[in-house]
Amino acid sequence: MTQQANNRLAGQTCIVTGGSSGIGKEIALSMGRDGANVVVNYYSSEETAQEVVKEIEANNTVAKAFAYKADVSKEDEVEAMFTKAVDTFGTVDILVANAGIQKDAKLHEMSMEQWQRVLDVNLTGQFLCARAAVREFLRRGMRPDISRALGKIIHISSVHEIIPWAGHANYAATKGAVRMLMESIAQGYGRQKIRCNSIAPGAIRTPINKSAWETPEALEKLKELIPYDRIGETEDIGAAAVWLATDESDYVSGTTLFVDGGMTCYPGFATNG
Ligand code: NAP
Repeated sequence: MTQQANNRLAGQTCIVTGGSSGIGKEIALSMGRDGANVVVNYYSSEETAQEVVKEIEANNTVAKAFAYKADVSKEDEVEAMFTKAVDTFGTVDILVANAGIQKDAKLHEMSMEQWQRVLDVNLTGQFLCARAAVREFLRRGMRPDISRALGKIIHISSVHEIIPWAGHANYAATKGAVRMLMESIAQGYGRQKIRCNSIAPGAIRTPINKSAWETPEALEKLKELIPYDRIGETEDIGAAAVWLATDESDYVSGTTLFVDGGMTCYPGFATNG
């Protein structure tokens, strides 16, 4: 799917956490195609993050980008990333809190490390980034020529914010919690014109879930869970994220946009349960 640059986000700066792979990489590219300056956060994949930066700047001369290594679960590293973004681009207008991991185990076999690391990255990371974004939005103040909102926060959640997931209780617990974090931010800062929403992807073809799509058999089994009968692609999420960042969605706050081909429509009941 090739997309055109149309610069709806020109003059704005976006931080994408986990911008070095999968969904975050495509969101970073999509924001850049629409003219935003992009901070491509990464944790271990420096080379890919640098490639994303190059591609953003090659796709659209309006957009500038840099790669930044930070562990989103570490307060000082998140703070330093926002400071660098503000020093470089003047402010931050859009946060896409995307970084996330899985450490799967049956509950009775799950180690404390598996539980804690997933909470640290998928939930504390979302909190630390959202807090830094809100602080920057409030410090900077409105720029009516740039956006109707003071700032936009987009959490990347999952269909598992509502679908229970045995063998992945740590992951599902963080995604359920992200929903309440997002709604509390939207409720608390709406009057200051901060919009906060989540995107809940269904099954998207990325490294995180490779085993679910890498063989034709696995893909067929996966599709049984998807009424729309195809796996999602990262572009499906990139387009949704850009829309949530533009003023086209100015009246959308406190909601989760499910981009899942109908996965949350209980497909098992399609044939009468
Ligand atoms: P992915 O390809 O495995 O990418 C994960 C990204 O998170 C990588 O860029 C990774 O950076 C980064 N990351 C991991 N730990 C980090 C940390 N401590 N600090 C900063 N960044 C860190 O996975 P993905 O599928 O794109 O997933 C992205 C988000 O979408 C996650 O929140 C995931 O839960 C959510 N999601 C995915 C699906 C799906 O079907 N793929 C479905 C629902 C929700 P490095 O590579 O640099 O280490």
